[in-house]
Amino acid sequence: MHLMKGRAGIPMDSLRDLPSVDALLQTTQAQAWLVDFGRRLTVEAIRTTLDEQRAAYAQAIKLIDRQDLLQRVHDLLGQWSAPTLLPVINAAGVVLHTNLGRAPLSPAALQAVQEVSLGYSNLEYDLQKGKRGSRLLHAEALLQRITGCEAAVVVNNNAAAVLLVLITLARRRAVVISRTQLVEIGGGFRVPDVMRQSGARLLEVGATNRVHLADYEAALEERPALILHAHRSNFRLMGFTSEPELSELAALAAKASIPLVDDLGSGALLDTARYGLAHEPTVQESLAAGSDLVCFSGDKLLGGPQAGIIVGRADLVARLKRHPLARAIRADKLCLSALSATLLHYLKDEAEREIPIWRMISAQPEQLRARAEAWQNILGQGQVMAGESTVGGGSLPGETLPTFLLALASPSPARFHERLRHSHPPIIARQENDQVLFDPRTVLVEQEPVFLRLLQQVLEVQSKKRS
Ligand SMILES: *Cc1c(COP(=O)(O)O)cnc(C)c1O
Repeated sequence: MHLMKGRAGIPMDSLRDLPSVDALLQTTQAQAWLVDFGRRLTVEAIRTTLDEQRAAYAQAIKLIDRQDLLQRVHDLLGQWSAPTLLPVINAAGVVLHTNLGRAPLSPAALQAVQEVSLGYSNLEYDLQKGKRGSRLLHAEALLQRITGCEAAVVVNNNAAAVLLVLITLARRRAVVISRTQLVEIGGGFRVPDVMRQSGARLLEVGATNRVHLADYEAALEERPALILHAHRSNFRLMGFTSEPELSELAALAAKASIPLVDDLGSGALLDTARYGLAHEPTVQESLAAGSDLVCFSGDKLLGGPQAGIIVGRADLVARLKRHPLARAIRADKLCLSALSATLLHYLKDEAEREIPIWRMISAQPEQLRARAEAWQNILGQGQVMAGESTVGGGSLPGETLPTFLLALASPSPARFHERLRHSHPPIIARQENDQVLFDPRTVLVEQEPVFLRLLQQVLEVQSKKRS
C-alpha cells in the first residue's frame, strides 16, 4: 500500500528525488516526533522507510511522495513504541483467568506499590537499628497473624516455592507422593517435573484413583526426606476413590520424624463454601491438620500479586531462607508491597469488600442481573439470560457460580469477538453458538463506561457492515 502514489503530491520517479534523512528530520512533523519518541527511534524510522523505498525502486516499484513517506515513518514509530502488555476487560466470567493475569489488585495494593516504588524504601534496611535488614520480614508478620504460622517466606511464584522446598529438604533423596496427585496444572507445568528438577527422587505410592495410609507407611522404609501432598487444582477425583486425611499423613510424618509439605496451590484464606462453592482447603486448615510447610500462590484465591508463599515451622523456613536458591527466586519490592497490602485486607476482615476477586466471587445473582439489564438498556439490544461463571486459575474445578449474562446475537460471532479483541482496551468475552456472552461478574465497575462505549462502537460497525 505504501508503495503506491500518494493522494497529495506527485510521485517521485528517481532515487535522487528521495529526500535525505536530514531533510525529513527538518519537517514540522519530525520535529514533533523528536519530542514524542526521541531522536534515536525517529532517525531509525526514517532510515527504515528510506531503505524500503530504495528496495522498492530496485524492483521497479514507484516511490511514494513525501507525505506518504512521513505517514509511513509515523506508523513505524507507533508500532515500535506500542506496549505489548495491555490492560484488557474480562467479560468472560472466569474470575482467575491465568491468560488474563489472574487476580486484579485492590486499590490499596496498587497504592502500596506506587508509594514504595516511586521512591526509595526500607526494603532491606532496618529503621530501628539503622543498618541492613531483611526483605523477608515484610509480609511475614502479617502471615503469622492471619494463618497462625511460626514463620513465612515469600518467593517469585508457587512453582519456585515448591522447588525451593524440595531442593532444600530433599535433594538427592526420596519424596513420597501419591499417584492421585501427580498433576499437570496448565501451561505444561507438571508437578512431578518440577519435583525432579530439584534432584529429589519421586517415590510414587497408591494407584491413580486410590491411595491408603498403608501405602505411605510402606514407603517410609526407603527413608524419604519428606511426604509431599499436592492439591489436584484443576481436576476432581470422583467415583471409587480414597485418600488418607491430611492429619493422618501428618501423624505418620511426625512418627517418622520427617516433614509433611502441602502444596496447596490456590491458598485460600477465606472459606469458599460461604459463597456456594465447594470447600477449598484453606492455609489455616492445612497448618492445623499438621502440615510442617504449606506452599501457595499469591495471585490465585489470595487475590494479590504473583508470589509463592511458604508458611510453617520456623526451623524449616529458616533453612529455606538460607538456601542460595532463595536469592535467585526472591520476591521483589513491588510484589512484597502489594502482597502486604492484600494480606492486611484479611487481617482487617475486609477481604470480601476490598479484594477484587472476592468481591466478584461474592457478587449476588440479583446484583449481576441488574448490571446485565442496565447494559441491555444502554445498548438497546441483547438478551439477559441466566448462566454460570467459573473461578478458574486451577482452583475449584467444575464449580460454578450462578450469574446473569448479556447475550448478543451475531451473524458472525467469531468476527464480532475478533473486533472486540481489537478494541482499546480489548474486550474478552465468551462465544457460544451464534452468540457472544458478557458476564458482569468479572467486569470491574470502574471499567463499565469504557466497556459499554467500546461495545457500542463495535455493534455500530457490525450493523453498518450488514446494511
Ligand atoms: C498453580 C499451582 C502451582 C503453581 O503456582 P504458580 O504460582 O503459578 O507458580 C503449583 N502447585 C499447584 C497445586 C497449583 O495449583
